[in-house]
Amino acid sequence: METLKTFFEFAEVCERIEKESSSLVITDMVADFLKELEEEELRICPYLLMGKIFPEWMDRELGVGKSLLYNALSRASGRNETELEELLRETGDIGKVAEVAMHRRTQQTLFLGGEEKLTIVEIYKTLEKIAEASGKGSQTTKVRYLEYLFSSSSPKEARYLARLVMGEMRIKVGEGIMRDAIAKAFGKTPEEVERAYMFITDFGEVAIATKKGELDKIGITLFRPVKMMLAQISPDLEEAMKEMGTCAVEWKYDGARVQIHVGNEGVKVFSRRFEDLTKPLVDVVEEIKEVVGVEKAILDGEAVAYDKSGKPKAFQYILRRLRRKYGIEEKKEEIPIHIFLFDCLYVDGESLIDKPLKERRSKLERIVRGGKRISVATQTITGEVSVAEKVYRDALDAGHEGIMLKNLSSPYIPGRRGKHWLKHKPIMETLDLVVVGADWGKGKHAHLLSSFYLACIDENTGELLEVGKVATGPTEDELKELTNILSELIIEQKGTYVKLEPKIVFEVAYEEIQKSPNYPSGYALRFPRFVRVRDDKSPEEADNLSRIEELYRKYQ
Ligand code: AMP
Repeated sequence: METLKTFFEFAEVCERIEKESSSLVITDMVADFLKELEEEELRICPYLLMGKIFPEWMDRELGVGKSLLYNALSRASGRNETELEELLRETGDIGKVAEVAMHRRTQQTLFLGGEEKLTIVEIYKTLEKIAEASGKGSQTTKVRYLEYLFSSSSPKEARYLARLVMGEMRIKVGEGIMRDAIAKAFGKTPEEVERAYMFITDFGEVAIATKKGELDKIGITLFRPVKMMLAQISPDLEEAMKEMGTCAVEWKYDGARVQIHVGNEGVKVFSRRFEDLTKPLVDVVEEIKEVVGVEKAILDGEAVAYDKSGKPKAFQYILRRLRRKYGIEEKKEEIPIHIFLFDCLYVDGESLIDKPLKERRSKLERIVRGGKRISVATQTITGEVSVAEKVYRDALDAGHEGIMLKNLSSPYIPGRRGKHWLKHKPIMETLDLVVVGADWGKGKHAHLLSSFYLACIDENTGELLEVGKVATGPTEDELKELTNILSELIIEQKGTYVKLEPKIVFEVAYEEIQKSPNYPSGYALRFPRFVRVRDDKSPEEADNLSRIEELYRKYQ
């Protein structure tokens, strides 16, 4: 007879893992635990250990926020919500809050009679019911179920239950450890487990198949999203072309990635993070059925939203359309979407994943007729830098991000950011900014100024307004030199911070300019990187606020 593990046993394993710092030891602990599980436990425990309740592909949420949790916990423990909030402020750990709250309660129940321990599977089934509750009265239903779970928990169980519910497990079991642990538990290599995972993105199912020796039966499956292949960045086009040789050059469309599954049951569209986009894209979905000339297919592409002038709209507009669950009819008029298909992973029962891009592409061209809202992405096959450059300029002129260079003989490698696909896009125009402060480094860098506060000039008042802080870019030698120059300019020191006379100008690169209430300029640089000192520029010649505003608008 099968004996199912209690949630208490699960909590004990979590506690042991939490105390351990070595990833190898943690992997062993997880592997040992997985080995002891029955199939129905093996389906769910990998996710619970990773602090998740449902696998990514399910696009399913528990729908429990902090106030709902407090409500349930307060009913189960007799502590009021203010006390719980206070406890959270003290400990910073929702698990600890639940543990302490339930401690008092458990001592009472001990007098009233024993405790019955729930199994992991029982807890999971209740969590599923919590997720299912929706609509009117669902909040009360969720609270009741959660109250029941806490009332049946010992303090230790409550700790991990609360963390699980809030998605804050804190036991350092991530995808890498889970992959290795499954491999170790059932005698397979991490690569074999990884490959199967990329196809069905469900560690529960992968663990069961590994245990049964059926890992090689796992392949691409219709209506189960496959992890998407990604690209590496290549700042230098000439170098990229040299590395690739003759390759496929495509526009890097400025939109959102979509994976489209077509089958007898209908059509389903997934985002890169496996959100189900079928409903928000209902108009495009209708066309898919018409333009795809086979019964079953999995297609990869980019959804682009256009404005009235025919330029692609910024990414956040597409998201707005895609995330909107209501008013789809109006949105589709307001934001028309076009899908450009660039890959094909599966056709009529046959997986094309291991076939070279060239073959996948010709299959794609054969099965898809262009439609009003769907077309096959234009592809240019070339080994010439000048040809790739022309495609690049056209893509930018059309308002897209840049280009993709793809190795024609490479397979589709799910979830991999490898060298078979390279992306090339413009580096943002750099900014010249005045250094107004710095922080001394830590540890072996304590004698070096290591991060630098940067400011632009407000051309109206002449004031220097901070726009960010740069800490990456300079080499150790450059840091020494910068420290020598800047130490001469220290006006004031507070702890590790020094205020500097504004004399030096840095050229900095960045990924994006964002609006920010945290800096006096009202803007902040995302991922700023030191390029060089502009010896040739005085602070008065540094970039001003108008230029930052202009760049912000340009790259919006
Ligand atoms: P990044 O998000 O910068 O790593 O760039 C990769 C993303 O570019 C993909 O996930 C797609 O969403 C997008 N993309 C746009 N056009 C293409 C294309 N022709 N081939 C592949 N990816 C593309």
